[in-house]
Amino acid sequence: MSELSFAELGLDPAVLEAVAAVGYEKPSPIQAQTIPALLAGKHLLGVAQTGTGKTAAFALPLLSRIDASLMEPQILVLAPTRELAIQVAEAFTTYASKFRNFHVLPIYGGQDFFPQIKGLRRGAQVIVGTPGRMLDHLRKGTLKLDSLKALVLDEADEMLRMGFIDDVEAILAKTPDNCQRALFSATMPPQIKKVAQTYLRDATEVKIESETRTVERISQFVLPVYAERKLDALTRILEVEPLDAAIVFVRTKAETTLLAEKLSARGHAVAPLNGDLNQRQREQTVDDLRRGKKDIIVATDVAARGLDVPRITHVINYDVPYDTEAYIHRVGRTGRAGREGKAILLVTPRERSWLRTLERATNSPMESYQLPSPVELKKMREEQFETQLLGFAEDGKLAKAMALLDEIAERNEMDTAMVAGALACWLEASQPGSLPLDQPEALPEISATAPPRRDRDRKGGGGGRPGGKPGYKPGFKKGPKGRGGPAPKGKPPGKGGKPAGKRPSRQD
Ligand code: AMP
Repeated sequence: MSELSFAELGLDPAVLEAVAAVGYEKPSPIQAQTIPALLAGKHLLGVAQTGTGKTAAFALPLLSRIDASLMEPQILVLAPTRELAIQVAEAFTTYASKFRNFHVLPIYGGQDFFPQIKGLRRGAQVIVGTPGRMLDHLRKGTLKLDSLKALVLDEADEMLRMGFIDDVEAILAKTPDNCQRALFSATMPPQIKKVAQTYLRDATEVKIESETRTVERISQFVLPVYAERKLDALTRILEVEPLDAAIVFVRTKAETTLLAEKLSARGHAVAPLNGDLNQRQREQTVDDLRRGKKDIIVATDVAARGLDVPRITHVINYDVPYDTEAYIHRVGRTGRAGREGKAILLVTPRERSWLRTLERATNSPMESYQLPSPVELKKMREEQFETQLLGFAEDGKLAKAMALLDEIAERNEMDTAMVAGALACWLEASQPGSLPLDQPEALPEISATAPPRRDRDRKGGGGGRPGGKPGYKPGFKKGPKGRGGPAPKGKPPGKGGKPAGKRPSRQD
């Protein structure tokens, strides 16, 4: 993470205001390098993957340089897929939210021409689109580039792989000579290098280097999951993992609070840790974790820097980190004081290229994390319930309770099993989720869920389940050790004869 703040980078005040509203704490490494160069009007060649914050790295400075009151296309972004085009357009809309009368228009193949032409006629300062459709509009004359100030090629190697490179070059050739250009690519195959040499002038090169470092004593797992199912996946991980304490990493301050609230509603002792808390509040939160008043902390990278709490058994990367450096720092929050630790990384299909990079950087392979199937989950819940129940078998009040229930049973001609069953149902009614009564079919199988529509549309629709069925190419092999999620937690009851109590109510 960079030491400079967004304000120190010299962005337009309206853009800064929008960044503050999204809750980004600090520029990511690629942003710290890219923003000054683009603000200075330089051409840029960036070797960066999705997840590094590259969209903001070009969107923030380019938005800071245009004339927001001029309703003409001034920034053009080419993206390989409709999905990415929409995401980039959404990001621009967010970062430009404090400009008045500002329009961002996504343009991609497969959509009717008419609404696109209407949008272009109405006027938009930023156009984000796939190369083929963009070229169609240029040829028809419905898109004009006379006022263009900047052009960005996003995921250039993907555009090459998908056979769009000729269209990309045709568009490049139609952009004004004095237009600022930036090219981002995860890899640099020769054809992309050639495009860079031809169309970029005196470009600043930005590359996020990372040293290889071994992550000892920490077993690393990866769970492919569609973005929309992340919360369900996390809920289940927290249920099945034998964790003492965990730190869950997210990207924004707002997300720390939001996710902590959701986990709290699910019965976890959890607190957010972010840069909005003052020093004293932060220390208090860490202290609560150290002493066991809290079991989970949802943190941003900045807030968790240097955190050293030996009881952290698990690091869960709910959002992928910006770079391998940040990843290594995150997982280093566990496995402290010579103990073993476990790190679990949630990756969405778009972020899968991260895996190879991370494996290289940490010099160790990631194992595939397997969530339990509904049948296994039900069994675990039953075992957990049994453990908790047995925890009361030696309770000081047991004899009195038995005598009372005997009386009730006798008066009502019930047998003991019936009384016990009624009690258990009472417990379930007052603490939903206490009793494993759900049928396995009623429990969602998270990893096998069909991908949500937007993900399915990307890259020719590989509608497979995340985890290795045809159509989806995550490169996630089943780990040799099989299941990442071990036996149920089965916490003994807490002091004073209360049930372990922490058992989350099941809303997953
Ligand atoms: P990208 O690499 O552009 O796909 O960005 C990945 C994610 O990082 C997006 O969800 C952004 O909203 C988020 N992001 C980008 N920059 C920052 C930042 N400085 N702080 C926190 N989150 C960020």
